[in-house]
Amino acid sequence: MNKNITLENLMDEPGILSEYNPNSVDFDSASKIIKKFLTPIKEIQNLNLSDCLSKVLAEDLISPINVPNYNNSAMDGFAIKSNLKNNSKIFKIINTILAGNTSKFTLKNGEAINIMTGGKIPEGTDSVIPIEYVILSGNKITLNELPKTGANIRKIGEDIQKGSVALKKGTYLRPAEIGLIASLGVEKLKVYKEIKVAFFSTGDEIVKAGSPIKSGQVYDSNHYSINAMLQRLGVECMDLGIIPDNKELIKKILIKSAKTADAIITSGGVSVGQADYMKEVLAELGNVLFWKLSIKPGRPMAYGKIKSASYFGLPGNPVAAMVTFYQLVQPALKYLKGELNYLPPPIINVKSDALIKKKPGRLEFQRGILSQNKDGLSVKPTNLQGSAILSSMTQANCFIILDLESGPIKKGDKVKVQLMNGLI
Ligand code: AMP
Ligand code: MG
Repeated sequence: MNKNITLENLMDEPGILSEYNPNSVDFDSASKIIKKFLTPIKEIQNLNLSDCLSKVLAEDLISPINVPNYNNSAMDGFAIKSNLKNNSKIFKIINTILAGNTSKFTLKNGEAINIMTGGKIPEGTDSVIPIEYVILSGNKITLNELPKTGANIRKIGEDIQKGSVALKKGTYLRPAEIGLIASLGVEKLKVYKEIKVAFFSTGDEIVKAGSPIKSGQVYDSNHYSINAMLQRLGVECMDLGIIPDNKELIKKILIKSAKTADAIITSGGVSVGQADYMKEVLAELGNVLFWKLSIKPGRPMAYGKIKSASYFGLPGNPVAAMVTFYQLVQPALKYLKGELNYLPPPIINVKSDALIKKKPGRLEFQRGILSQNKDGLSVKPTNLQGSAILSSMTQANCFIILDLESGPIKKGDKVKVQLMNGLI
């Protein structure tokens, strides 16, 4: 990390920051600034496949075998040689092959072998005819029509060829990748070590769930939502609890966590209130790279460095904390984990079912409800859009993304929508 980076000389950074205004960084610049100061983890570990969900592959995975490993039947049916000179549609059944039978069988002209899905294709076979398409009488089958050559045969190596790159270095391992690796017979693999993420909530008014609460106090929802979002990413969580608005204490905790954590996430205290110390402390301990974004919700969000740790100071308001996490912190943590080519969930254009209030000046992530009706997809915002209305997040299934300079959206106009839930 460049030690001389300050708010002032950030403006000299080539490319991204020519129009940099520390009091109002736009979303794209914020994403670029964040990425510029991140160094992905390099340490590698050898893990059992069953422990690799949400880890990132640290080397290209070369397939040691062909998948499938042998020509096999895609259907329960009959293996035949169909392109006979006489175009005969009658075949004599000579045997049965179940999946798992490794013996070698050979077909002669005019013969058929009853074969099950996954069964090894006998020598001399050019196609498999599904059982539903034959007329069975005694030890003979009659076909209505001859199948195409290759029909219902899964060819050796058609999915993955031996020696080819099955998965690239930097791949984030989801259930599909875990299954694919197992299909290669690989049980141990090299993945990046998990990044460590320390997190705590700040605020004199914040109380842990499960404790009694007084009027004037607030239960700590951010702590739990942040912890849950981190767990979904599979990072190593360092839970530092709730820290009161005490500058010295905050400083001590940050210094300590920067020694072991790759990233530190806090919530609250980044705004301009009298007890908002995060930006000040960050400036004293490291570098503030930005602290005000032209997005809504989430205007006060700080990003900086404390030694080699990346610091994300999320807003205290619960919706703002979640929105800034999903939109800016999540891609950053994935990059730190070593994931290459991370793409955020796709954004689609759909019709708005309602008038959407919006003033120009900030990029908005409104909480939306996307639904399917007879005319296709349409979206409407949840009733309340305040940055403290966490129920807007639970009701929503998508973000409605409204551009910085956009004004209100008329009912019937198209808007950009980003789904919150990925299937895998
Ligand atoms: P702050 O960013 O510290 O000014 O806080 C903004 C608002 O978010 C205040 O109403 C806080 O009470 C609330 N808030 C801050 N931290 C949390 C938290 N961890 N859980 C729920 N609400 C919070
Ligand atoms: Mg506070």
